Amino acid sequence: MRYADVILPLAIDGCFTYSIPQAMESKAACGIRVLVPVGKKKYVGVISRLHDEQPAFRCREMIMLLDEEPVVTDTQLRLWQWIADYYMSAIGDVYAAALPGGMKTIDAYKPKTETCLALAEQYQGKTELHIALNILSRAKRQYETFCDYLRLSHWDAIADGAEESQQEVTREELMNVSHCSASVIKQLVDRRLLVTYEREVGRLNNSSVPNLDNVKTLNTAQTEAYNNILFSFMKKNVVLLHGVTSSGKTEIYIHLIKQALEKRQQVLFLMPEIALTVQMRERLQRVFGSRLGIYHSKYSDTERVEIWKKQLSSLPYDVILGARSAVLLPFTNLGLVIIDEEHETSFKQQDPAPRYHARSVAIMLANMCGAKVLLGTATPSAESYSNARTGKYGLVTLMQRYKDIQLPEIQVVDIKDLQRRKMMNGPFSPQLLTAVREALESGEQAILFQNRRGFAPMLECKACGWVPHCAHCDVSLTYHRSMEQLTCHYCGNTYRVPSACPCCGSKELFGQGYGTEKIEDHIAQIFPDAHIARMDLDTTRTKNAYERIINDFSAGRTNLLIGTQMISKGLDFDRVSVVGILNADPMLNYPDFRAYEHAFTMMSQVSGRAGRKGKRGLVILQTKNPQLPVITQVVRTDYDAFYADLLDERAAFNYPPYCHLVYIYLKHSKDSVVDAAAKEMGTRLRQLLGDRVLGPDKPAVAKVKAMNIRKIVIKLENGIDMKRVRDCLHSVSSAVCSASGNSSLQIYFDVDPM
Ligand code: ADP
Ligand code: ZN
Ligand code: ZN
Repeated sequence: MRYADVILPLAIDGCFTYSIPQAMESKAACGIRVLVPVGKKKYVGVISRLHDEQPAFRCREMIMLLDEEPVVTDTQLRLWQWIADYYMSAIGDVYAAALPGGMKTIDAYKPKTETCLALAEQYQGKTELHIALNILSRAKRQYETFCDYLRLSHWDAIADGAEESQQEVTREELMNVSHCSASVIKQLVDRRLLVTYEREVGRLNNSSVPNLDNVKTLNTAQTEAYNNILFSFMKKNVVLLHGVTSSGKTEIYIHLIKQALEKRQQVLFLMPEIALTVQMRERLQRVFGSRLGIYHSKYSDTERVEIWKKQLSSLPYDVILGARSAVLLPFTNLGLVIIDEEHETSFKQQDPAPRYHARSVAIMLANMCGAKVLLGTATPSAESYSNARTGKYGLVTLMQRYKDIQLPEIQVVDIKDLQRRKMMNGPFSPQLLTAVREALESGEQAILFQNRRGFAPMLECKACGWVPHCAHCDVSLTYHRSMEQLTCHYCGNTYRVPSACPCCGSKELFGQGYGTEKIEDHIAQIFPDAHIARMDLDTTRTKNAYERIINDFSAGRTNLLIGTQMISKGLDFDRVSVVGILNADPMLNYPDFRAYEHAFTMMSQVSGRAGRKGKRGLVILQTKNPQLPVITQVVRTDYDAFYADLLDERAAFNYPPYCHLVYIYLKHSKDSVVDAAAKEMGTRLRQLLGDRVLGPDKPAVAKVKAMNIRKIVIKLENGIDMKRVRDCLHSVSSAVCSASGNSSLQIYFDVDPM
């Protein structure tokens, strides 16, 4: 008897074993999807292993094979297993994350088809065509449409002996060109002059023609960086390209992709944010045309199924541009992975499991495929920077902006002092308003950065200090004035704005703090003629909103852009002369060991939007802490000093990259249950792992969606036997879960948390 281990989309460790009916034995293979029974249900799984080992339990038969050929490659299966092990999640969760929905269900994926027209065989000749035209001599409309068909299909020329190949003509195309109705075409078909057939069409756009010569010539500094990267790849598998904003990293990527394609290798190009692929797509398409495929989770499921299948076909895309999940696509000949803006935390998946970091997964994938990895950024993550410093990664730097445009001048404005002297106009310093005014008056643009969306981060009763909170989460609500409601940014619940304070009855409720909506409101009053746009989660919910905001700003239809961290990421604008960072302090005060790293990155990236072409930009950085070294380091673009301080601090307090972190979260609807369980777990873990275990503690937001949360932090020295640690964590976790009263307790792990 033959057996198959099958991966199912269930959050359960390990695989399920099924026996293979005789009739299917020759066709079953790893990577083929199967329909199998689980309890009373049926699931689509993927075969991960075939063997003869009879399981100890009575195992059921698989029902049906769903593929002729594997749809998951061996490399993918190995990668899935690595992700499941490393990130301590079920392999079923990895499968669920990797495979597009349409491939995980049995409703057969239906290819879209369109009706095409062909010339009937008996008329495929010069004389024969004349006979056909004669038949139609009395039917003027049909005659004209038939002639249009002959022209479109090139049959007119072919019948005349020209060396042309016939062109496929769709019914729709003919109707458009000939301005005729479907019935005219039906009459031609009924007269057996034309024949219809169905053609499968991809929903994918394959129209643009590649032109590899469309690359820009690299300047001296870029050429040197390019050569250094190639040289570095001879010794290292991963190279970090540390290049300031606007140095032309993207042009270097394009040259590297071209070089890989010339070696017939595939390239994976990862970006942190779906939105960013929009601008990048245009730049890549000019060179790589239809050899470029785009893949991310906002694509429709059918499109994702098509791309997946195309990657398994004999004509896969050579270049895949995508966000995080593109790393889970099948590749047949991967040669190069580029990770742009490698420092971005959105490469890490937060929820649901698997909580993987696409950068780490990509490096592992590249390892399995013998491919090289290029990490590009103006502000490397502490981890990558340290790996480059210690020689684990190659390091190439490019500190010159293209055409020697100067880095912006950054002016620090002490808002504490200005507030004392009553010189602030709401959230704006006089310096910022002057700079924005000058920019707008001279036809330039300005960007204002505030990392809070909504109108006011919180509403407060002036009389008694009451603040509305979410009923399900342990957080105050954000006031959104445009929708006239209060929103919980953790669970998404919305509430009516109370007309009076429920505690004291006072009607004086006012918004505390500034969200992007309020900034927009205030600045519009100061500059009534400005064309203002706002970019945050609230204004970019619809599919094309992001693109529209960017395009309007790029084209100058708007001249003042207000936004959250969304605007800090890799956007390339020509006419921005002023950038205002309204308040650096919340970033610096954020209770996380990465706060300074993120603040430095964010401020440097936002500043990088200023003065890209022709003119030195100006950044106004508002803060109450102008004396902090990190502020000076941003002002001086002093990466070396910043990273030296950062790494010293991480070493002193034992944080990554000097150790590995695993966060354990416990959740339960009852606070007393989760509290006791977390203490029990902490005690048991300490017995095994000693003082590597910290906590349990309440996280900053200790209740979300009516679930009470506790957090345990595990700090693991580099080089520790991770497998043993994981076994410890798993066994303690199952022991705690199976204790009485803990049945609905949820425990999950976040490995290398962000
Ligand atoms: P980065 O990715 O480092 O931020 P980009 O590649 O976006 O920089 O380059 C910034 C701008 O300069 C872009 O508009 C780009 O087209 C232009 N540019 C950079 N290098 C070249 C080059 N060698 N030839 C022509 N234009 C270039
Ligand atoms: Zn009150
Ligand atoms: Zn909530």
